[in-house]
Parts: sequence; structure tokens; C-alpha cells
Amino acid sequence: MSIKNYYIKTERTFTVIRKYGFIFTLAIAFLGLWIPLMGLLVIPVIIGLTLYAFFKGRFWCGNICAHGSLYDSVLIKISRNTQIPKFFRSQFFGVLFFLFFMFMMIKRFIIVIGLYGSLVFFERMGLIFVLSYLMVTLVGGTLGVVFMPRTWCQFCPMGMLQKISYGLGKKLGVTKATDEKVTLAHDSMCHKCGKCSRVCPMQLEPYLNFSDLNQLDDAACIRCLTCVENCPAEILTLSNEKAAAIMKKNMDTNGFNERKKIKAQIVNIESLSEDIQEYSFKFLTPLKVDYESGQFMLVKIQDVPETFRAFSISSTAHDPSLVKIIIKNIRNGYGSEIIFNHFKVGDIIDLEGPMGRDLIVDPLAKKVLLIGIGIGITPFIPMVKDLIEKSTCKEIKLLFGTKFSHEHIYHEEFEAIERKSNKRFEFRPVVSREPNWNGRKGHVTDHLQDMKLQGYKVYMCGSHNAIHSVSEQLIRMGVKPEDIQYESA
Ligand SMILES: Cc1cc2nc3c(=O)[nH]c(=O)nc-3n(C[C@H](O)[C@H](O)[C@H](O)COP(=O)(O)OP(=O)(O)OC[C@H]3O[C@@H](n4cnc5c(N)ncnc54)[C@H](O)[C@@H]3O)c2cc1C
Ligand code: SF4
Ligand code: SF4
Repeated sequence: MSIKNYYIKTERTFTVIRKYGFIFTLAIAFLGLWIPLMGLLVIPVIIGLTLYAFFKGRFWCGNICAHGSLYDSVLIKISRNTQIPKFFRSQFFGVLFFLFFMFMMIKRFIIVIGLYGSLVFFERMGLIFVLSYLMVTLVGGTLGVVFMPRTWCQFCPMGMLQKISYGLGKKLGVTKATDEKVTLAHDSMCHKCGKCSRVCPMQLEPYLNFSDLNQLDDAACIRCLTCVENCPAEILTLSNEKAAAIMKKNMDTNGFNERKKIKAQIVNIESLSEDIQEYSFKFLTPLKVDYESGQFMLVKIQDVPETFRAFSISSTAHDPSLVKIIIKNIRNGYGSEIIFNHFKVGDIIDLEGPMGRDLIVDPLAKKVLLIGIGIGITPFIPMVKDLIEKSTCKEIKLLFGTKFSHEHIYHEEFEAIERKSNKRFEFRPVVSREPNWNGRKGHVTDHLQDMKLQGYKVYMCGSHNAIHSVSEQLIRMGVKPEDIQYESA
């Protein structure tokens, strides 16, 4: 595995406690040196996390822990965010450090117990916790900057205490209903993109370790939701065992049932702009693959850990022996760098697919608005052709927004289709960051305002944030949420 760019820094603080909890840590660790009684506040914290873990594993670490907040909210900004050394992750080191930590704490308690009844007893007791908070802040902070923000959490004695409590809860069968683990909706829907692993603060590999019930049974998981929030397929949740079983049984996998493992050869690579290339693959096994416009394919980029990237199909299914995809070279992008630097004509590549149903146009739709943002235009290249040639759709509009005009791939083709379509198809290109552009300027949202969209089905593709803001505007304009479908990366 190439380590560079593998782990991604991303938002991890989804609640006020997780964002600002670090103030508690800093107050105890530093203010506590002057007001040692503050250290006694740590006692309810230890009781709380032990009790919580009995029911919910290390949920506390990912959602309530004030040190965790320091790592996720503050340190992440300056962390090198690189791989945590195996040594810190080993059970041997975890147990050894736990025993050492407990030994030191008990030794200090025994000394302070001798002062029971005197005025300084509570202060000295508080100071024990203040110093331990200070040590965690300094050591954990340093490790967090040098490696990954949550390096300390790999061997934190409080984490070990929670694992012991959780193990007990599991043995007694309590956790079945209360423990919400990372759960995959259905394995046929997973892109195997590894993003859940790349954003995981604990550097776990959820997508490679789901159980038969599609759950992550790893006691090190801190239930922090980071993988859930970042999964591009939006197929992860935190669920208990019962909910996972129901999901597995009832999940609608329409659009994913034809997914197969494919070997294909790259037969052409064509440059469409300075950082966008179209790759043509000829299927080898099987020789033919049926797909629909609007679906996507997975392309394997590495074997260990097995990782794919999803790309929308940019060819129509006229020739089932071939598939085309268009790829943008993302600066510092882990997968696109591998593809642009290593894939060449003649290479035999593993694909999986076809997959997806979100951009399959309703066959009964009479008016369709397609919105492609940036490289999100790719699925609409075959979709426009198919809508014109095969559907009974009367009005087809395509809004295509990019930052710069050179990103307007297939521009001439869309204009040619528009000219020949007898007003059935309208093409609206928009550019946001090029003052000399003669056409529509601004964002896609600026050019929705003058459109009358009653009765339209809308299909969108682009970045998560762009899709979100366009959806909000469409709903404000009266488009029903059930008439909006999208795919985002
Ligand atoms: C269903 C589906 C279809 C897709 N279709 C296509 C397609 O047709 N063509 C295509 O090129 N990609 C497509 N993608 C995106 C593609 O799968 C990869 O996510 C993309 O190539 C970036 O991967 P990476 O490993 O290079 O970047 P990463 O290392 O995963 O990302 C690096 C950084 O770049 C950011 N980033 C990712 N994508 C973009 C972007 N487009 N613009 C700006 N910043 C970005 C990330 O947020 C991250 O911070 C699709 C994704 C999905 C889920
Ligand atoms: S789609 Fe990607 S992020 Fe989501 S579960 Fe699968 S591998 Fe993980
Ligand atoms: S697997 Fe998901 S929930 Fe668990 S620690 Fe990693 S990112 Fe957080």
C-alpha cells in the first residue's frame, strides 16, 4: 500500500461535545495544577465510561471523551496524519501499558490514602488525576502530531477498561440490543473504495471486516460515525444486531443484482482536457456485459488492501463488449494518481459492475432535467443520447456547471445533439470562474431560477456539497423531493 495520501483528514466532530469537549481536558490538565480539586471531576468520567462501555463498547471514546475531542477537533489540523506504528496497536503493548498505568495509579492512591481525614487529602487525590490528564495531553498530543491524532487511543488505559467492561456486557448478552455497531446495508452495494478505512480515526478497515450480519465486530471501534458520514455510497449506519438482520433481509438491491467480477483490457486512453482522460475497456471475461446508461463501474486500483474506485459509465450500451469511463486527475488524489501514472493501453484490469440505479431515468418521465457539476457530467453523456434515441421524453434539459471552460468535456457533442433535437433537448453550460467566458456565468443554482420545473424529474451528479445546495434550491422552487435523484462522490 502506498501510504502517501492514503489517510484523509475529514470532519469528525458532529456534536457540540465532540467539538468543544477539549476545553474540559485543557482545564483539568493545566488549571488543575493551581486548583487540584478539579481533578476529582475525572472520577465520574471514569465511572461513566466504564458503565457506558458495558452496553455500547467504546462509544464514549468516539462521542464524549474530552481527550478524543482534543485530538479530533484541534490536533487533526496539525497532525501528519500518517500510519500508526504497528507496535502501538498491538495487544501486547496495550496490556503492558494498562498494567503499568494501573500500577502507578494504585501506588499513588496508597500514598494519598494515608492522608485521609486531613485537609490536603482531597487536593492530593485530585492532583493524581490532574497529572494523569496532563501526561495524556502531552504524550497523546505529541504522538497525535507525529503520527495520527488518535494514536494514544490505540493503547489508552481507559480504552482497555472499556474493552473489559464491554467484554463482560457481551458475555452476559446485554449488548445485543444496546450496542450499535457500524453496519453495511448490503454487500452488493459497497464500492470497496476503502474510504471508510481512510477516514477512520482508529485506522480500522471496516469494508474488509464485515461479519455475516454485515457488522463491524471490532472492539477497537469507537462508534465515532466518521465512516458513516463519509461513505460515498451512503450505505453505513450504526445499528444494533436486530436492525442489522432486518436490513440484510429487506434491503432493496435493485440496480446491484447484476454486479459481476470482470477482467477487461484497456484498449484506448484519450485525453479530453489537461486533467481529464477517457479510458476504453474491452471485456475479456465475460466477453459481454449488459449495462444501462446512468450506471457505474468499479475499477481496481490496488490489491492490498483491495481497493476500487467508482466511475460513471460514459458509453452507451450499444456495444456490450466495451465500456468507457472518464476520469479526472484529482490533485493529491490517491486513486486518480495511481490510474493516471500507472494505467496504460494493453493493461488487464479488474472491474466490478455494473452498479447503481439512482440515475436510471424513470421510463414514464415526460420532462427531465439533468444537472452535471464538474466531472459529474460523465453519466449524462450516454443518458442524453439514450433519452433522445430511446425514450418518449418530450423535454430534456441539461445544466452543466464547471469552474473553467476547459472542463466542459463533450461540449460540442451536446451542442450538436441540441441542434438536431428539434427543441426536445436544451443544453445550458455554465462557468463560474472565468471572467472572459461568453456564455452563462456563475453557478448552476444561479441558472435554475428562471426555469419552470413543474412536472420535471431531476437527476444530478456532482460533489456532495454541490448536490446538497442544488437540491435545497430545487425544493424551494417547488420540485418534489421524490422527483429528485442524485449520485455524489
Ligand atoms: C458513483 C460514483 C461515480 C463516480 N464517477 C466518477 C467519474 O465518472 N469520473 C471521475 O473522475 N470520478 C468519479 N467518481 C469519483 C471517483 O470514484 C473518485 O472518488 C475520484 O476519482 C477521487 O478519487 P481519489 O482516490 O483520486 O481521491 P481521494 O484521495 O479519495 O481524494 C482526495 C481529495 O480530493 C477530494 N476530491 C475527490 N473528488 C474530487 C473532485 N471531483 N473534485 C475536487 N476534489 C475532489 C476529496 O474530497 C479528498 O479531499 C465517482 C464516484 C462515485 C461514488
Ligand atoms: S462504499 Fe466505500 S466507504 Fe462505503 S462501506 Fe464500501 S468501501 Fe466503505
Ligand atoms: S470504524 Fe467507523 S465508527 Fe468505528 S472508529 Fe472507525 S470511523 Fe469510527
